[in-house]
Amino acid sequence: MEYFTLNNGTKMPAEGFGVFQIPDPVQCEEVVYNAIKTGYRLIDTAASYMNEEAVGKAVKRAIADGLVTREELFITTKIWVQDQENEETAYQAIRTSLKKLDMEYVDLILLHQAMKDYFAAYRGMEKAYREGLVKAIGVANFFPEVLTNLCETVEIMPAVNQIEMHPFFTQEKAIENMRRYNVVPQAWGPLDEGRHGIFTDPELTAIGSRYGKSAAQTALRWNVQRGVSIIPKSTHVERMEQNIDIWDFSLTDEEMKTVSAKDLGHSEIINHYDPDLVRVLDNMKIHG
Ligand code: NAP
Repeated sequence: MEYFTLNNGTKMPAEGFGVFQIPDPVQCEEVVYNAIKTGYRLIDTAASYMNEEAVGKAVKRAIADGLVTREELFITTKIWVQDQENEETAYQAIRTSLKKLDMEYVDLILLHQAMKDYFAAYRGMEKAYREGLVKAIGVANFFPEVLTNLCETVEIMPAVNQIEMHPFFTQEKAIENMRRYNVVPQAWGPLDEGRHGIFTDPELTAIGSRYGKSAAQTALRWNVQRGVSIIPKSTHVERMEQNIDIWDFSLTDEEMKTVSAKDLGHSEIINHYDPDLVRVLDNMKIHG
């Protein structure tokens, strides 16, 4: 496992484990416990995933069983749009997440979307950062122009921007812009959530087979090798093991180019430029 040093000196594992779409608390606790047992040290959750309690329980159990210490873990959570109304709602959302996780701090907190009053919400994160409730602050789904405006304005620079990135949506320009501001790019959906036949893709399979690796491992390796942090999700232990077994091989420059050439130039998971979607997200409530 390699680590990225964030712009405040904090170390973040280059690969983590995502827990989106595991709403069942019993299953989520088991999955996160297994992920830690498998070797994952970064867990990526969010208030809107409705599983922070289960993540917290799994972490507690893993620590009690001597698998890991809290200091060895890197826990990320996110503030949902509903709580990005103002500085106080964002700050209180962080306190609520900490309560649900049953933790004194999280390693990274992200604004989940560039929606509502995200500048005010960002100040809520800055306040929590100064108080030590969060070790680093960042954003998710901030596109180049929005991230640039944020970075040119705020007091504490975002450490991470989590956006969709995989071989079918490479986002090279967005990465270039993040580098300019020393923001670590982190890929959500690094396996394209299984779209485009990624697990049986002939080119990814052929490249992987040269190293005894799968198409999924090739896709994940490609992202970390270009300096992008990844947080693949799987409820299956054998896939968790496979997805983290990417640190003993390297792709050649030509193989990197072959993977990058699969880019479609747009997402087929979500269209943030669609006003209807923005309305849905702006009105999605996760609490009363
Ligand atoms: P993903 O990791 O790209 O793909 C997950 C899917 O791939 C699941 O259906 C999983 O199935 C399957 N899978 C995983 N490894 C596999 C393998 N080796 N072989 C075959 N199938 C495999 O998608 P994601 O969960 O959307 O993204 C990862 C994480 O990013 C999320 O969990 C979440 O933490 C974060 N995320 C953030 C945002 C945001 O807006 N910030 C948005 C989406 C996601 P099984 O589970 O059945 O094994």
